[in-house]
Amino acid sequence: MKGSPERFEESGVTRRTFLRGLGLGSAGGAIATLLPKTTASAATTTTFKHVWRLSHEGEQACTACRRHSRHRYFRLPLYAKHGRAHHGCNCDVVRQLLSVRKWNKFFVRRDGTLRRRWDTRWTTR
Ligand SMILES: [Zn+2]
Ligand SMILES: [Zn+2]
Repeated sequence: MKGSPERFEESGVTRRTFLRGLGLGSAGGAIATLLPKTTASAATTTTFKHVWRLSHEGEQACTACRRHSRHRYFRLPLYAKHGRAHHGCNCDVVRQLLSVRKWNKFFVRRDGTLRRRWDTRWTTR
């Protein structure tokens, strides 16, 4: 009533507006929370998709796992689980954001079908 400035949850409002602008709907919530605040405005022109990778952070990983996980991107967490370097590997499956442009390059074949995984070493064939 006195006109004292009320603290609105600005981040919440911004996030909602941001999502509406992208037309992502409810499924976009997780994506928005993962975007660093500094790039949120720039992200309106770039859309991201999730990829899954194997991570051995904090764990003792063998050379095979380290070399493997550095290059591999998986389209679904299930594919990551089944795409381990070797039997008995217990690396974590972690989610990562990839620009749609890259995602398409990694997972969409020329004929429009989808790959399960991508290995960055394949680009230099
Ligand atoms: Zn290993
Ligand atoms: Zn492993």
